[in-house]
Amino acid sequence: MVIVMQVTATDAQIKQVVNRIHSAGLKTFVSSDQSPVIIGLIGDKRMIATMPVEALDGVEKVIPITESYKLASRKFHPDATVIDVDGVKIGGGNVVVMAGPCAVESREQLLEAAALVKEGGAQFLRGGAYKPRTSPYSFQGLEIKGLEYLAEAREATGLKIVTEVTEVTAVDAVAEYADMLQIGARNMQNFQLLKAVGRAGKPVLLKRGIAATINEWLHAAEYILNEGNYDVIMCERGIRTFEEYTRNTLDLSAVGAIKQLSHLPIIVDPSHGTGRWKLVKSMSLAALAAGADGLMIEVHPNPAEALSDGPQSLNPENYQNLMQAVEQMTEFMAKLQ
Ligand code: PEP
Ligand code: MN
Repeated sequence: MVIVMQVTATDAQIKQVVNRIHSAGLKTFVSSDQSPVIIGLIGDKRMIATMPVEALDGVEKVIPITESYKLASRKFHPDATVIDVDGVKIGGGNVVVMAGPCAVESREQLLEAAALVKEGGAQFLRGGAYKPRTSPYSFQGLEIKGLEYLAEAREATGLKIVTEVTEVTAVDAVAEYADMLQIGARNMQNFQLLKAVGRAGKPVLLKRGIAATINEWLHAAEYILNEGNYDVIMCERGIRTFEEYTRNTLDLSAVGAIKQLSHLPIIVDPSHGTGRWKLVKSMSLAALAAGADGLMIEVHPNPAEALSDGPQSLNPENYQNLMQAVEQMTEFMAKLQ
């Protein structure tokens, strides 16, 4: 942040501004060899977030030159963050795949899905036990029973578990079973939930809100980081546009943008991003070409029978086919670097 003084500002006014900044525990850098005088602030600017600097005599304007999502910003952390989930690395050139059904539907369905996810080579099993459904009449998830099945699938396969938490009161239970907590698109700006997962001691997968700007999304990440949890993975899952052929519009430019603006890893979910299983493979490869650190893919042993998101779920054969293509693309991308 810099403070631009008025051209007519007196020495006394400049001194008064400098003193106010110092009283908030920050240092200043005053460029007095130019007109207007500019005062740069060094230190934790959160200290003056509530100070009405603009109201001080002689101040022309205050320009934020550092983003207010300070902890998520690459300016404060130039190296890419690599998150280690019990040996599985996310970020820094590693490609991670999280695959599984939209929802945990039954023990049999989940164990079958887990076996095929493992066989294809993914590292994480996904599956919602708490489902944020658009309609209250749709399947809402098995909740604790679903978490137990996920834990059983982890035992059986060695896959890590990522699953969504939809409310503050469920955070402890989900954190007890999962290796990674998912914040869904509908909850990206549920600030109490963001703070709660920030304190839960587990890595967080933060999906982009349905109509969230990249700036809002990074601020949502900041809420989690600000609680002391630095293990945040961003997930682009498509945004709402005028287009209706696809369920959402997958914004792959967000991959490059997040990488420029932030040090946090970013993965892409082409299943929710398109809503059509036939588009999942091409968008997965495009996401990796764009530099994504991984993918989240919906897979179901029998998509026609799925209780949610069947039309965008890959069947076992298409999933295996995708994973082979992902492997080739990963090798290709490694050679490019
Ligand atoms: C999901 O991953 O199943 C899900 C509900 O995704 P989103 O929050 O991106 O809609
Ligand atoms: Mn889904």
